[in-house]
Amino acid sequence: VQNLVLRDVTKVYRTGDLEVHALRGVDLEVAEGDFVAIMGPSGSGKSTLMHILGCLDIPSAGTYELGGLDVSQMTERSLAQVRNARIGFVFQQFNLLASMTALRNVELPLVYGGVPRQERRDRAAEALGRVGLGDRLDHRPNQLSGGQQQRVSVARALVTEPDLILADEPTGNLDSVATRDVLGLFQELHSAGHTVLLITHEADVAAQASRTVLIRDGRISTGEVA
Ligand code: ADP
Ligand code: ADP
Repeated sequence: VQNLVLRDVTKVYRTGDLEVHALRGVDLEVAEGDFVAIMGPSGSGKSTLMHILGCLDIPSAGTYELGGLDVSQMTERSLAQVRNARIGFVFQQFNLLASMTALRNVELPLVYGGVPRQERRDRAAEALGRVGLGDRLDHRPNQLSGGQQQRVSVARALVTEPDLILADEPTGNLDSVATRDVLGLFQELHSAGHTVLLITHEADVAAQASRTVLIRDGRISTGEVA
């Protein structure tokens, strides 16, 4: 089963008279349960692709189906619903709220989803257990290491049971030990059946995925990297 399918996706940014063709006919299929790295140099279109895959933006032309749903021409309002219900985001900067405990941070997507309080707590605690932080529920981000903070944000991404986990340079802020730790966690999620998309400019990070897709000048060339 294909979890996501992009067909001939283009993205053009217009600033006054200037046009930038950030994506030029991208085709991409990712099967359910796949672990794919998207790799490319700066300016190649990675962020643009990530924004489209993450339903943060829509293509200028072409189609994007996520879990069988065509999201290519959705309004911002519908797109926001799809994003919250179907996608778990992990960012380079963790994006955790400093004033909240790990448990409260992980509960947040469920607050937006209208889940009742006790169920929220149970599910957030369970997600933190899954990332090995069952004994850190009441810690605030500044009481956790970088690798642990990123584990909290992975738990936050998991807690809604998303169709897709989208990680944008998730190890960019981590030392080599924490990097290995977090990449190991993504491999565990993959083994458990989650679909994981990892965006990176680092070859050794991309090599941890099951396959790598290369992007250059807004075009994709698929390479099988072991
Ligand atoms: P990467 O993430 O690989 O560095 P981007 O997707 O950010 O690449 O950028 C691809 C191209 O699109 C670049 O030439 C960039 O300058 C341009 N671009 C990105 N975002 C915008 C924007 N909002 N407005 C105009 N041009 C943009
Ligand atoms: P950048 O690509 O500029 O380094 P990030 O990777 O941190 O920025 O975030 C990518 C984009 O996703 C940004 O435009 C940011 O505003 C947006 N974003 C971050 N978190 C969320 C979220 N939870 N829901 C929707 N959009 C988000």
